[in-house]
Amino acid sequence: MRCPFCRNDDSRVVDSREADEGQAIRRRRSCTACGKRFTTVEEAVLAVVKRSGVTEPFSRDKVVRGVARACQGRPVDPDALALLAHQVEETVRASGTAEVPSHEVGMAILGPLRELDAVAYLRFASVYRNFSCVADFEAEIADLRGRLAAEPEDQGTEHESV
Ligand SMILES: [Zn+2]
Repeated sequence: MRCPFCRNDDSRVVDSREADEGQAIRRRRSCTACGKRFTTVEEAVLAVVKRSGVTEPFSRDKVVRGVARACQGRPVDPDALALLAHQVEETVRASGTAEVPSHEVGMAILGPLRELDAVAYLRFASVYRNFSCVADFEAEIADLRGRLAAEPEDQGTEHESV
């Protein structure tokens, strides 16, 4: 890593710390020639492989943009979208591979989006999972209803255990 001030190619690490909840390492370096300090960030590259075979870096912004389209007109605030993108990244990273098919990114979006907004979820799922007929929507809605119906029961048992 060349010094950005004098282009010397040797530097000494004076401090290392985790950044971004352990997903990156930030190193403070001191140039052995001019003594100036600079910071480097080291991060495992997470690549998304598109259906075309093209690889691109995973981007939380891209997840947010994709989901925001499905959330148009829905009461979903930007913070919730940012959190969702973060959850998606964690899920994708947890898969333990450096190259993830875009399909898996979509799968990772579906779960948290369903929790966030049922209508946005249906919109996203209809495109993403290629809903081709009304029956596909009906099956998905029946599944959503089943989950909603199961919720009060869950809360009940939580209260009991407290
Ligand atoms: Zn230097």
